Amino acid sequence: YEFTAEDLVDLGEIGRGAFGTVNKMVHRQSNYAMAVKRIRSTVDEREQKNLMRELEVIVKSSDCPSIVKFYGAIFKEVRGLYNIHFSSFNDEFLLKGDCWICMELMHTSLDKFYRFVYEELKERIPEILLQQIAKSVSWMFWNYYETIIALQYLRDRISMIHRDVKPSNILLDRRGDIKLCDFGICGKLVNSIAKTRDAGCEPYMAPERIDPRQLREYDVRSDVWSLGITVMELATGKFPYPKWNTVFEQVAQVVDGCSPRLKPEYPAGEMGPDPVTFSTELVDFVNFCLTKNVSCRPRYPELLCHAFVARSIDAEELTRVVCGVLDRMPETLTTNCYKI
Ligand code: ADP
Ligand code: MG
Repeated sequence: YEFTAEDLVDLGEIGRGAFGTVNKMVHRQSNYAMAVKRIRSTVDEREQKNLMRELEVIVKSSDCPSIVKFYGAIFKEVRGLYNIHFSSFNDEFLLKGDCWICMELMHTSLDKFYRFVYEELKERIPEILLQQIAKSVSWMFWNYYETIIALQYLRDRISMIHRDVKPSNILLDRRGDIKLCDFGICGKLVNSIAKTRDAGCEPYMAPERIDPRQLREYDVRSDVWSLGITVMELATGKFPYPKWNTVFEQVAQVVDGCSPRLKPEYPAGEMGPDPVTFSTELVDFVNFCLTKNVSCRPRYPELLCHAFVARSIDAEELTRVVCGVLDRMPETLTTNCYKI
């Protein structure tokens, strides 16, 4: 389906991140709603080829139920509008100016969802949803990395992209489907002009990725760490490390300190008015992901056969639990706030 920026009606901002805004937009002719990420950046011609390859990887790997679907990208250039369809790449394409990435629209992201649950409802995130998150992200790892390995075999120079697992990048819909958004490409697009971003500032980053002495090849296990931090944060309602003010403090705690541990029981008062007990599967899953030494940390095959992930999920119960929260959430915290 071909379309240009002119065919899209902007309904307003639904999210904002480091590199740009995400808006809800409707395709005029079909009345179809999408999420459109707009990145203002210029990419020099030398980087175009690499970028194209990586876009291709992302599109191929996005053919996965736990990654938001990509509809295409629109590159706005000074001379006019160019439209790229991922199925037919044009290598001579000049990338300059704005890049609009069009993707499937989800209901909300987990950062908004979980803050609402803990801060407004004074409730907890039910384990069934944590289980769904662990399952979806583990399967995504499998799908994404297997795709990349397959592509690597066909052609070199495709660099691995970390998936950046954290609550604000995990999206949710009313059925309880979990999908990841935010792909390395966005950082890449902008980083080509603004290389100033400090790698150490990412709170979900694994110890080996922020420790300069441990510079290593791309490893899926670094993303497994981020999943562990994310599930722990969602289970307890707070980020497992105290607030860092400098990268040095972060290094001191994440690289030199012990990794966070999820405890099976919390007495009343420590995490809310009632005592909390987590299942042994959940506790074990989180602590397994948060193995500090990367060479002992699990990869996706171990995660996929872990009891917390392998245990089946009652789909009706999941939908009921998710809708129970979403129905009480103000529309301004969801993408529903703008009606067609
Ligand atoms: P950044 O790279 O700046 O972090 P993201 O792609 O993560 O940008 O998007 C920022 C926020 O926008 C997300 O946390 C989420 O709340 C919202 N958002 C992004 N994509 C979608 C989408 N497809 N559906 C619904 N909300 C989205
Ligand atoms: Mg993000």
